[in-house]
Amino acid sequence: GGDNTFSLAASGVTVAFGGFKALTDVTLTVTPGAIHGLIGPNGAGKTTLVNVLTGFQEPTTGRILLGGRDVGAHPAHLLRREGVARTFQAGRLFTGLDVLDNLAVTGVGLGHSRHASEVEAMRVLSWMGVADLAEKPAAGLPYTDERRVGIARALMFAPSFLLLDEPAAGMSEAEADDLAALIARVAGELGTGVLLIEHNVGLVLSVSSHVYVLDAGQVIEEGDRSAITASQRVRDAYFGA
Ligand code: ADP
Repeated sequence: GGDNTFSLAASGVTVAFGGFKALTDVTLTVTPGAIHGLIGPNGAGKTTLVNVLTGFQEPTTGRILLGGRDVGAHPAHLLRREGVARTFQAGRLFTGLDVLDNLAVTGVGLGHSRHASEVEAMRVLSWMGVADLAEKPAAGLPYTDERRVGIARALMFAPSFLLLDEPAAGMSEAEADDLAALIARVAGELGTGVLLIEHNVGLVLSVSSHVYVLDAGQVIEEGDRSAITASQRVRDAYFGA
């Protein structure tokens, strides 16, 4: 269309697993420097949508657009280099390495020297306020620290877009508040476009400028906080019709 912003978008995306459609005609846009929320009941298709936006799953039909270019066939490792990073629900850290090395491996994978990668890893941890984690073994990290390291690792790609898959799961309210502040800094200071997938609807509504609601594979509502909280369709999806 006439949108000249460098954005990440799904356009009319359907994902079918055999005869079952996990997503049906989903259209969504993530713009730079803003936080977008993605909520919906269990099984709604949230993770499938993250997978298809990050190259872990090809759309059956429809397009994934990065700056207007169709990247639907690009595998995850390529999309990461093109600026689309994600975190995972489970940490997926290298448990035999300390935190700094977990991040440095990413830099080396991007073609940087080991030294430059370690410097960058330290810079990212410091920016996040968790430099004290650098020398800790990744195995046995407290859950919330593991989540933070997952975000730090994604930031090693200096992503234009960051997709966070349930980053607050298992966190206390205070920890979730800290996380919300970090996500706001990622969007505000780094200019990254964020898509936040969360069970914690309150967290999503409090930090997102635009929220999408998925139910049974379809976007049933989108808009700002007041539009979502006022929506009868959203209430029906969560509490049953
Ligand atoms: P959510 O993240 O919102 O809980 P998912 O995207 O994980 O939802 O799943 C949406 C639906 O698609 C679920 O019914 C799930 O069982 C199904 N699904 C997800 N991945 C696959 C797959 N690889 N093969 C078959 N069905 C799948």
